[in-house]
Amino acid sequence: MRKTRIIATLGPSSATPDGVPALIAAGVDIFRLNFSHGSHEQHAASVALVREAAAAAARQVAILQDLSGPKIRTGRLASGQPIPLPAGSRLRITTGDEEGCEGHVYTTFAGLAHSVSPGMRLLLDDGALELRVEATDGTSIDTTVVVGGTLAQHKGINAPDVALPASALTDKDIADLRFGASLGVDMVALSFVQTVEDLLSTRAELRAAGAEATTLIAKIERPQAVANLGELLGACDGVMVARGDLGNEVPLHSVPRAQKVITQLAQRAGVPVIVATQVLESMRTNPRPTRAEVSDAANAADDSVDAIMLSGETASGLYPVAAVKLLDAVIRDAESLNPKPRAAFNAGVLGVPHNRALCEAAVTLAHAGKAEAIVAVTREGKTARVLAALRPEIPIHAVTSDPRVARRLMLHRGIEPIAIEKSVLDSAGGIEVERHLVELGVLRAGEPIVFVSVNADLTRPDANFLRIRRVG
Ligand code: PGA
Ligand code: MN
Repeated sequence: MRKTRIIATLGPSSATPDGVPALIAAGVDIFRLNFSHGSHEQHAASVALVREAAAAAARQVAILQDLSGPKIRTGRLASGQPIPLPAGSRLRITTGDEEGCEGHVYTTFAGLAHSVSPGMRLLLDDGALELRVEATDGTSIDTTVVVGGTLAQHKGINAPDVALPASALTDKDIADLRFGASLGVDMVALSFVQTVEDLLSTRAELRAAGAEATTLIAKIERPQAVANLGELLGACDGVMVARGDLGNEVPLHSVPRAQKVITQLAQRAGVPVIVATQVLESMRTNPRPTRAEVSDAANAADDSVDAIMLSGETASGLYPVAAVKLLDAVIRDAESLNPKPRAAFNAGVLGVPHNRALCEAAVTLAHAGKAEAIVAVTREGKTARVLAALRPEIPIHAVTSDPRVARRLMLHRGIEPIAIEKSVLDSAGGIEVERHLVELGVLRAGEPIVFVSVNADLTRPDANFLRIRRVG
């Protein structure tokens, strides 16, 4: 079993009736729908494709809705064709939703032309291109190209010197979030988070849409988010090291250290962490990645992150399936190294102390009894999440009667979620659960297995048990 999860972004290269099943077969655990691109109709079609292909493959596959947040982008270009942007040339950026051409592009983000001043830097396309602001009249910005290249349509603009508006949740995000909730997405990621309030208002919108339990992921890509990380970790269900924008917003050379610090703090808080962007970037156009890319992916797995995400590689690249297969192989190889010491774990973050104590006991018992796996009997996912945060060496089979809980658990390292009938889950003593897992081929007769279930409520007769037994 591969412990580190693979997230793949859907797009023109992959959101097809053949593409989605092929990516699932190659190892995708979570599909990301990038709401910075595509129409609601396209995303609805993608959700249907994923649900159908996951059912056909009998796999738990989750859907992550990525909200664009206050991301500033360039607009459409004539015939969708990229324009040349040679160093030293001039580029005008005007507020509006019109078609751009060579020398003149648009952005719908009205705040930009108001906020910049001469001498400020603007970075385009994940920092591939750099402009210097010469002048602005509040509607149009005149710039000189400092680092040139080619500009395609709808590329990101980073203005590291400019403060963003107060809330990371835009009107578009709210409309998209409601739409995603109507589609039943499993996870929502919010871009350009700066404060806990951003997360609280997103959770409030989810609640209003009847989707409060949706996994909420904070994308760490602004200096403010790095500074507020401790608080953010207490208000979300996962964080993403969003290296694309982060690399524009903080000095690029500090991104690797930011990744390590975010990863360590998240693990200490028991919060899942995703490493994202440019993981196998060269595979957008090449069938083989660079040595540096595979090393980066293996290092993230070594650091015990929960998931690694592919973006353009699977959304718009030439080799989406090959990229997933390669990432799968790299992670498996990394995970074949001797088990690492357990991640430091912060008391109290994941609920009441006896929950953690019982899960710690489960891991210790599994180790002492040479168990093959831990079976977490989990109704809302808590038992499985606490176990995953303890990073046991053996697999965690998370048995739940709620398919939505099963899919949400796909974000956590080392969990194999299994959705079963409620009557089986509630069966006295868990013997039915065990029999069912043997039938599924998850457990084999004769192997020692640890069963555990925790609950905050100590009066429940069906929870807060821990036992080791040989599968009958
Ligand atoms: P994006 O987020 O792909 O939505 O921009 C990830 C990142 O910035 O790295
Ligand atoms: Mn981003």
